[in-house]
Amino acid sequence: MHLVMIGGSDAGISAALRARELDPAADVTVVLEDAYPNFSICGIPYYLSGEVTPWTSLAHRSIADLEAAGMRLRPDTTARRIDVPGRKLLITSPDGGEELLGYDKLIVGTGAVPVRPPIGGLAGPVVLGPDDGVHLLHSMGDTFAVMRTLEQAHPASAVIVGAGYIGLEMADALTVRGLAVTQMEQLAEVLPTVDPQLGALVHAELAGHGVEVLTSTTVQAIGKAPPGGAGRLEVQATAADGSAVTRAADMVLVVVGVRPETTLATEAGMALGVKGAIAVDEGMRTSLLDVFAAGDCVITHHRLLGVTYLPLGTTAHKQGRIAGENALGGNRAFAGSLGTQVVKIFDQAAARTGLRDHEAAPAGFDPVTVESAADDHKAYYPGSHRITMRVTGDRATGRLLGLQLFGHKHAEIAKRIDIAATAIFHGLTVDGLSDLDLSYTPPLGSPWEAVQMGAQAWTRATQKH
Ligand SMILES: Cc1cc2nc3c(=O)[nH]c(=O)nc-3n(C[C@H](O)[C@H](O)[C@H](O)COP(=O)(O)OP(=O)(O)OC[C@H]3O[C@@H](n4cnc5c(N)ncnc54)[C@H](O)[C@@H]3O)c2cc1C
Repeated sequence: MHLVMIGGSDAGISAALRARELDPAADVTVVLEDAYPNFSICGIPYYLSGEVTPWTSLAHRSIADLEAAGMRLRPDTTARRIDVPGRKLLITSPDGGEELLGYDKLIVGTGAVPVRPPIGGLAGPVVLGPDDGVHLLHSMGDTFAVMRTLEQAHPASAVIVGAGYIGLEMADALTVRGLAVTQMEQLAEVLPTVDPQLGALVHAELAGHGVEVLTSTTVQAIGKAPPGGAGRLEVQATAADGSAVTRAADMVLVVVGVRPETTLATEAGMALGVKGAIAVDEGMRTSLLDVFAAGDCVITHHRLLGVTYLPLGTTAHKQGRIAGENALGGNRAFAGSLGTQVVKIFDQAAARTGLRDHEAAPAGFDPVTVESAADDHKAYYPGSHRITMRVTGDRATGRLLGLQLFGHKHAEIAKRIDIAATAIFHGLTVDGLSDLDLSYTPPLGSPWEAVQMGAQAWTRATQKH
């Protein structure tokens, strides 16, 4: 049995590891177009900030570890075409030569590529790139290009276009490196994956660390600055009231989201789904015989929404593992995502799981969100932090639908969101969350855990008198 994975990131390598774990005799080849298999691209901001060195520490596993697990790596090799009836993959090897690689089962893990918005300087007659200090950020190659700009051009200032979680992590990272950062976001508040009430707290944290945050500001063009200006680049944008906003900067980072990379899949005739991602069933099977797919290139099965597109590293690992198992003849199903995520912004963290009101209502729920706050541990013990919570539940059934949290990075925000993720995963009601037997000691918690106090605040606010 020869399994071939396309892509050597979270999905492709998880699939390869699982296949080798289940069948030590499985012949497993991973085709990857760069030379950095199994790198934690989620850690890129911390390498660029200078907090993590050297760059090789970002590898989840070394090449030697991966080879010891029994997989054959084909680095600097690009998959060009899938011949489904012939079960062959056309690849271009590092020397440029073409080769046909036979397979019994194929797993596509081609991931996502950063969205390049159609603005001046990124599209049109004059396109600026890394040599000009204009960057997109997704791969290790992109990372090295940003680092070259940082180390060789010594920028004093940066404009970050986009205030999603990667934009925020990079605002933090570049500020830590000593750059003056301006963040431009076309929506009304930063971190649009949480409610604006929590986005405003994130906004204040950015501003408190000196980041100039310009929301409701749509970038129109990035160009070279006129000689004698403050920076080598100039970013032109429009504010909500239509007025022009111009900022000079030495570098510009454009991080406005990703789209699934499906060139190969489309050419092979694979069915696509939401947002143009590859359609897969819960076993990661595509519409083509013996071809599986996983990770950022596929649609996401969501426990509350059905099918959506929610590209995340945690999901890519799980889907890859299932694809690897099922390619060997297994019958595992991806249990579904809840979009659980967390981001650190300087000294604070923001997290969410499940649904917000505007996501829950179209899915047939009657959502109510109640905001409250509680301490991460008993306030009489030094070092306690206040956590802001937004609990979303279904008015009709009391079912817990979502939780959003904001609080200090040492307030266990990530693990607290995971309590709610576990509760939602298992269909608990908001009251049921409050019934859970959770741990307590004053330096680390309270008799009622903070998220349980959030649950009780929801029940108080929604109970009928
Ligand atoms: C800066 C940053 C921070 C992030 N932080 C987080 C986080 O904190 N938490 C979280 O859950 N997620 C995070 N993510 C998202 C997470 O990294 C992705 O969801 C995950 O890496 C997706 O894995 P993947 O294997 O599906 O795809 P990708 O990581 O996109 O990898 C796909 C690979 O396939 C290769 N490839 C594509 N086409 C071909 C071809 N034709 N031939 C050969 N190879 C090919 C590409 O070169 C690429 O290496 C972050 C992403 C970035 C960029």
